[in-house]
Amino acid sequence: MYWLLRPDAARAFEDRGVRHALGRYVSVATNEKQANFRIAQLVPASFSGDESDGELWKLHAEKLKDYERLKEELDSGRGRFDELERPEKSLLDLKRTLAWRMLESCEFCERRCKRNRRKGEIGFCGLAAEARLSSEFLHMGEEACLVPSHTFFFIGCNFYCVYCQNWTISRQVEKGLPVTGEYLAELAKKRRLGEGSRNVNLVGGSPTPSLHVILDMLLNLDVNVPIVWNSNMYMSTEAMTLLHGVVDVYLGDFKYGNDACAKRLSRVPRYFEVVTRNFLLAREQGAELLIRHLVLPNHVECCTRRVLEWIAEHLGNRARVNIMGQYRPEFEAHRHAEISRRITAEEMSRAFAIAKELGLWNLD
Ligand code: SF4
Repeated sequence: MYWLLRPDAARAFEDRGVRHALGRYVSVATNEKQANFRIAQLVPASFSGDESDGELWKLHAEKLKDYERLKEELDSGRGRFDELERPEKSLLDLKRTLAWRMLESCEFCERRCKRNRRKGEIGFCGLAAEARLSSEFLHMGEEACLVPSHTFFFIGCNFYCVYCQNWTISRQVEKGLPVTGEYLAELAKKRRLGEGSRNVNLVGGSPTPSLHVILDMLLNLDVNVPIVWNSNMYMSTEAMTLLHGVVDVYLGDFKYGNDACAKRLSRVPRYFEVVTRNFLLAREQGAELLIRHLVLPNHVECCTRRVLEWIAEHLGNRARVNIMGQYRPEFEAHRHAEISRRITAEEMSRAFAIAKELGLWNLD
């Protein structure tokens, strides 16, 4: 009955821009093609677990080539998914093993805290090995092509945005429910088969610190559903490599056009370099991009313009862009005069005018 709440969602798969940027996602959501993680489940990977990290990463690089070949065969119709059997160990098992090893000196994101989270140490995100869930439900407020979106809100975040709308989750005021991959997979299956979710939408906080448990979830998931990685795009290169063959759509925030604003408002170093690198890596992986840019008061020239210029130059209209005007001064925003008010209609008009000037038409 979601179309009663969101009639635009019912029509979204016919939208020219959605098809242009997110065509494979639409095919997976409608079960014409297989989600990336389902293909990774089928790529055999032989390892005992006694190998060194270097040996496992080398094997991972080789198996990614097999994954690309298999994906091309299945997508082109030259191979049939239902004729293939799951191997004893797959590329997805290998990814899971590498992620749990990385947890002993955590470098899931570019903060690279190198804490042994398996032994209970915590880094900037405030999480040890346990993944904790704040809530999960069919989200009706996402972009129309995602609705109804089975959204998992993980506790913890690797950013400290002073205006965070989900600050009880990111700052762990809420403790959440400890979850296993098996439990998450059961929930995803129920929402997909029983309630018609269009995707699994992984968010928080940030999903990145919970990468190891998310891979556990996907190992246990036996239904076809696109995976949406809804994040700040601050993953390390190693985490990006593990997400290759897992994520169908990067629903990535692109918040700032320079490092000074990022440092001041999200306490994050090297922002522009890391986030732009990851958008390009996502594209190289063959994943699809839906980029969110939240327009901040007094940041149209320093951030909105620069973000849209970069997208126009490097991704063009193959990335769908959501220029968002729903900023509200929450959490600690009142301590920063520049962002202690809502956005004005004039600022939003300027943001859309810049997009138009740059030739960006694929706007959500
Ligand atoms: S996920 Fe990022 S912030 Fe958290 S411990 Fe690992 S490197 Fe640090």
